[in-house]
Amino acid sequence: MTMIGPLHPWRDTLHDLGVMGLIPPPVPREAIQEQPPRPILHQSVPEVHKEKTSINTPLPPPPVPKSLPPPPAIQLVATPSPTDPVAFPPPERVAGATSLADLEAGIQGCLACPLGAGRIRLVFGEGSGDSGLLFIGEGPGRDEDLKGRPFVGKAGELLDKMLGVIGLERSRVYIANIVKCRPPDNRTPTGPEAQRCLPYLKRQIELLRPKVIVTLGATPLRELLGVQTGITRIRGEWQRLDLLGGIPVMPTFHPAYVLRQYTQDVRRAVWSDLVAAKKWLDEPGNLPQ
Ligand code: URA
Repeated sequence: MTMIGPLHPWRDTLHDLGVMGLIPPPVPREAIQEQPPRPILHQSVPEVHKEKTSINTPLPPPPVPKSLPPPPAIQLVATPSPTDPVAFPPPERVAGATSLADLEAGIQGCLACPLGAGRIRLVFGEGSGDSGLLFIGEGPGRDEDLKGRPFVGKAGELLDKMLGVIGLERSRVYIANIVKCRPPDNRTPTGPEAQRCLPYLKRQIELLRPKVIVTLGATPLRELLGVQTGITRIRGEWQRLDLLGGIPVMPTFHPAYVLRQYTQDVRRAVWSDLVAAKKWLDEPGNLPQ
């Protein structure tokens, strides 16, 4: 079977005119069907075009990991209930503590302010009430948090030396802080953190019955006595804590400040404050009004 084109009826005429080349020779149908497949276009396309055509090529499936990574650990942080007497030691438990050890046991699990959740150890305070001298700092730092003891870092080394100057050993005085848990990055405790912790320190003072308190730096002065005056102006001037009928308080610089400002003036100032405190211990005078 041959295929007939539209000019075929005119083939004789066209032949006579000598333009037979306009008529393609009839193509047998079988020949059409048997034609070799047309070359696939992209086989002759340059590389760069080939890449473009790959947009339509389905992506290979992502590799399947042999074992899936473990899911992230879910940390369940239980919010303590305000009625939990371990996390929120009740005021009557604190006020009713009959000894320092009893008080310490009663507040060991305290989570009453945000500092509790971040501590390694609660730093209750330590020493003896023998000499009648109580030192109050700001709050535990890194070393104190690790060991659960106050003033055991660099500032503590200096405090020991300062005590030596007035002829006292560390074991004969008591050392405590405004807050019992380390503030993050050793920042100053906030007012609410300090005030939440204060009943513990006050009960500690009632149980210790110190003759003189030496406050170290501005924080204990502000939080315990409500004195806002800068420490540089007020240090060396007797203050009074309204507890147990009135306790004399000598404000001085914090040992960490002395380490930063290691000048003769600063060291002399601390020395004279400590001498005044010791003198009071040895021969008590009148309480400041
Ligand atoms: N600074 C403080 O105020 N207290 C400490 O216990 C240690 C460093």
